[in-house]
Parts: sequence; C-alpha cells; structure tokens
Amino acid sequence: MRLSKTHFTTLREVPGEAEIPSHIWLLRAGFIRKSVSGVYNFMTFGWRTVRKIEQIVREEMDAADAQEIITSPVQPAELWHESGRWAVYGPELWRLKDRHGREFALGPTAEEVFTDIVRGEISSYRQLPRNIYQIQLKYRDEARPRYGLMRSREFIMKDAYSFDRDQDGLDESYLKMRAAYHNVFSRCGLEFRPVRADSGAIGGKDSEEFVAFGDYGESDVVYCGACDFAATTEQAEGVDAAPESEAPLPMEEVHTPGTKTIDAVAAFLKLPKEKTLKALLFVVYEDEIAQNGAYPVKEYIAVFVRGDRELNMVKLRNALGGIGEHLIEFADEAAMGALTGSVGGFTGPVGLKDCRVIADSEVPGLKNLCAGALKEDRHLVNVNYGRDWTADIVTDLKLVGEGGACPVCAAPLKLARGIEVGQIFKLGTKYSEALGATYKDENQQEQPIVMGCYGIGVTRAMAAVVEQHHDENGIIWPMSVAPFHAIVCLVQSAGEAAEALANEIYEGLLAAGVDAVFDDRDERPGVKFKDADIIGIPIRITVGKRAGEGVVEYKRRGAAETAELTAREAVERAANEARREMRREMEGI
Ligand code: ATP
Ligand code: MG
Repeated sequence: MRLSKTHFTTLREVPGEAEIPSHIWLLRAGFIRKSVSGVYNFMTFGWRTVRKIEQIVREEMDAADAQEIITSPVQPAELWHESGRWAVYGPELWRLKDRHGREFALGPTAEEVFTDIVRGEISSYRQLPRNIYQIQLKYRDEARPRYGLMRSREFIMKDAYSFDRDQDGLDESYLKMRAAYHNVFSRCGLEFRPVRADSGAIGGKDSEEFVAFGDYGESDVVYCGACDFAATTEQAEGVDAAPESEAPLPMEEVHTPGTKTIDAVAAFLKLPKEKTLKALLFVVYEDEIAQNGAYPVKEYIAVFVRGDRELNMVKLRNALGGIGEHLIEFADEAAMGALTGSVGGFTGPVGLKDCRVIADSEVPGLKNLCAGALKEDRHLVNVNYGRDWTADIVTDLKLVGEGGACPVCAAPLKLARGIEVGQIFKLGTKYSEALGATYKDENQQEQPIVMGCYGIGVTRAMAAVVEQHHDENGIIWPMSVAPFHAIVCLVQSAGEAAEALANEIYEGLLAAGVDAVFDDRDERPGVKFKDADIIGIPIRITVGKRAGEGVVEYKRRGAAETAELTAREAVERAANEARREMRREMEGI
C-alpha cells in the first residue's frame, strides 16, 4: 500500500474525550473514529489490525475443531422469552420493533440463537460433539460506555458454543477452548492470565476470565504469590474469621451521638471495627417493567457484614437468585425506614421488620458485636446472632481484596487490575433445557445437550494490546497484529536515486512476504517519522541521503538505535524479523 493513495489521518492533539492510552493512541493514529457514544468506525489501519486479530482467533478456533458460521445480530424476542432472559437482561439489551410491532434484540451474545440452530439440526448422539463459532458485531447498551474500544456499545466478539453428550464431553470441550485461548492471546502479544470468574447473566457453573494486565482495566483480580490461585474479586471466596468462643454478654443500648459510620462508632466506643456489624440497605425491583415504564419495588433487604469488611455486590446478587445489576440499588432511607424501622447510620438487625435479612457467613460465629439500635444516636452492644437476631440467608458476601486470605493456601492475596479480554463458561443444560435442545442417546433416550460458551472481545483485545504496547510517541504493535510489518520511508529531497531504491525495497519486501507499506507522500521526513511512530509499525526503513551508495537506515519501533544497511540486507533482515517474531508469538513465548 502506498500512503500517498491511502485514506488516513493522524492527529497531533489528544482528543478531549480520550483518557487512557489505548483510546488516545487509537484515535490519534487514525485507527478508529467515533460515530456516537460507544460506537466506532474502523479506518484503514484499524481495520487491518482487527482482521489480523480475527485471523489469529479463526486459526486457533479451526485448529480446535470449531466451525465458523455467521448469524444475524437481529434476534427475535421469542427466543429470549424462551430462555427467560428477555426480562432478566435489563436495559443493556438493545431492543427494537419492526413496523408490525414485533420485538427483536440486537444480540449482546448468542446462546439462544445457537441453541435454536442446534435444536433444529441435531437429534442423535452420533452428531455430537460440535463446536460452532462466529466473529460478529455485538450490541450492549452499556450504562457507561467509555475508554473507546474497551467498553463500547457496539463491538466485535468471537463467540463459540460447544455441544456435548455429557459433562465429561463438556469438560473436554472446555479444556480445548481454554488451550485455544492461551494461543490466541499469546499470539496477540498480550500478557494475560486466566482467573476464576463469576458467570454473571450468561449462567452456568465453572467459568474463567482471561485477564490482560493493564492499569485501566475494569476487572479487579486477586492472586496468590504462594500458590496458583487467581480469581476476580467478584468470584474469590472469602475466608471466614474463626468463630469466637467468648461467652455472650447481656445486650445493652448505649448513647452514640453522631456516629453514623463504622469508623465513628468504633472510635467513640473504643472498639475494634471487627467488633461492629455493618448494615447495608437495598431495594430490590421486580424484573418486569410496569405500565409506567419503571421497575416496581419487590422488597427491601438489609445486609450485615463484619464492620471491617466490604460487601461484594456480585455475591449479593447471586444470593438473591442471580438478579441483574439494574434490579438492585441502595434503598431510599426514608422509604425503607417507614416500612422496616431502619434508621440511616443506626441500623442494626435487632427489631428490624418487613425486610429480608442477609448475613455474611462469618457473622453467626462473631460474639458481642456493636450494631445500630434503630434509633437516632443509639447503638446496641453485645449483640449476638441466634440469641438476638437471625438472618433469612447466611452466605459468603465478602469482597476479597489486597491482603485477604487465599482460599486455597491462606497466604495473603495480591490485587491487580486487568482487562477482561475473554471468558469461557461451562453452561451445562441451562439453555438446552429451556429451549428443548435434546439428542437421542444409544438407548434411544432423549437427553438435553450439555453446552459451553466461549467469548473473546476482539476489539477490546486490540485496545488491550495498545495498553501493553505503547510509549510517549505512539503505539508499538507486536508483529502479529501490526497493520503492517514494515514501512518504507522515502526522504523526498534525496532525489531520484532514492525514489528508485525505495521502490525496489518496497517491492522486495512484498516479494519476501513482508506486509509492507510505502510512505511515498510529499511530506517532510519529520512528519513521516512521527506518523510511523504513532501508527506503531514495527520496522522502519528510511531511504535518504545515502541512497546513491545503496545504503538505507533500519530502525525498530521502540528502539533508540538505527543501523545502516544495504538495501538487500534491509529486506532480508525485515523478512527474518517478521518471520521470527510471528513464529515466536505462535509458540506463545
Ligand atoms: P464486562 O464484565 O467487561 O462487562 P462481560 O463479562 O459482560 O464483560 P462477556 O459476556 O463475557 O462480557 O463477553 C465476552 C467478551 O466480550 C468479554 O470477555 C469482553 O472481552 C468482550 N466485551 C464484553 N462487553 C464489551 C464491551 N462493552 N465492549 C467491548 N468488549 C466487550
Ligand atoms: Mg465476561
């Protein structure tokens, strides 16, 4: 490709809306252009990189015996009603109606569609296992689209679905996909790690996220330095404090003026925070939208955790039956107080009425706690579970963070930020049972197909690569996903000999299988070098003042030093480096 004929523009200024390196550089390098919030157009270089990532994904999926198909992002609402997700998915599901009033969703994922395809076409155990996938635009009307390709409302996802006869088959399919994911992300040049994850709205049991390390990721991961445990903070099991053995003391009400927080009351009563009970109050909504377009209130709930702990919202939502994020929020104090007797800052479990009470699993083992007295400026001390109050649900609700105990070996955990670039799930029979996707086994018995599903955020992975590979001058693409391997920069002022040599090198690179682009624009060398740096092409060959002697300058993006080589040496070196680095990434080193 010749840049003089290429449609592209790089930006010298940092676009106002961009806050993180990948967003800034992908805009500045002209890879993407915003259409509307959370929706991007991919320009020449950007689309080439997307296609390279897609190709890596495709090769690894095909090697794992998955077959590519493509389905329409327009999905009939009926399928979502069948699975029960039309209501559960909430406002993130982008819904639309046709002229006859029939409802559709723009697919945020495609479990229903793939289950529907398979139920129509698979009837015998002889047709299993199967794994089918697609690389397709997905739509999620995210509450907070941000960070460019990281969290957009339209994005490219590879989604694969496996169909097996039984759990053993699923385990095998899952491991095959897990291995394929390792290859994909290694080949993309990402530093990543699979971590145990919550299965969220997709459902199912076992799940892992592939998390690429990066400061601006939105996944918090805890990992153990002593063993190989790693999980999202949402998923990591909390380790309960050992049950206390002190004798329960008589409960007493005490005056605690103005102590609305755990810190304040602990300081006032000179108690460690571990001896206090933290209350968090929520309102839960029905999942069907009412006539007025709002979600009706279903119930109020009061959650209690040890005073020094934080509540993990995902665990709480799971304890409530896996309700969607949009169906729960902090309760309005006055509204909840009128019904249940709760008092903002002074809520405790003793005497609370008309609401569901949920306690973290370690709370029943704690003795003589301080809790709100349901009266302004009053607390109760020596509150004991069982004697003074009980909960409707007792389960692990703790947020596990830095320094928390590893649930496997009890060593202190470390916290890291990361970008979720993929997730794999063992779904089991959730969708096959809901949609009636069955097969006949050897004994002619009807059995539900056992499913798995496997997603890769192609465009988010592209952003993750930039987060991990950039400097103050722009992107530094790994060879495998660079829009081009090499750029030939012609210094225009160097005359006809230079032009002829640059052409020869460009043709030579193409002939040697190097993905090359020729900067033949009528621009100053400074402009060309800056653009080459921003765009992040791994190899730059500059043809300038020594062209007459057949000598050119060879430079790697990100390296300070340059080498003077003959034209032939430069072509050979570029071909070798491109080949070697593609192979290295293939081997996942
Ligand atoms: P998140 O927790 O970040 O919202 P998710 O767990 O809901 O993501 P999945 O349903 O697991 O996402 O989708 C598979 C993959 O698609 C994710 O691992 C991620 O890489 C990508 N992805 C999901 N949502 C977005 C988005 N809004 N923009 C870009 N990529 C996304
Ligand atoms: Mg996910």
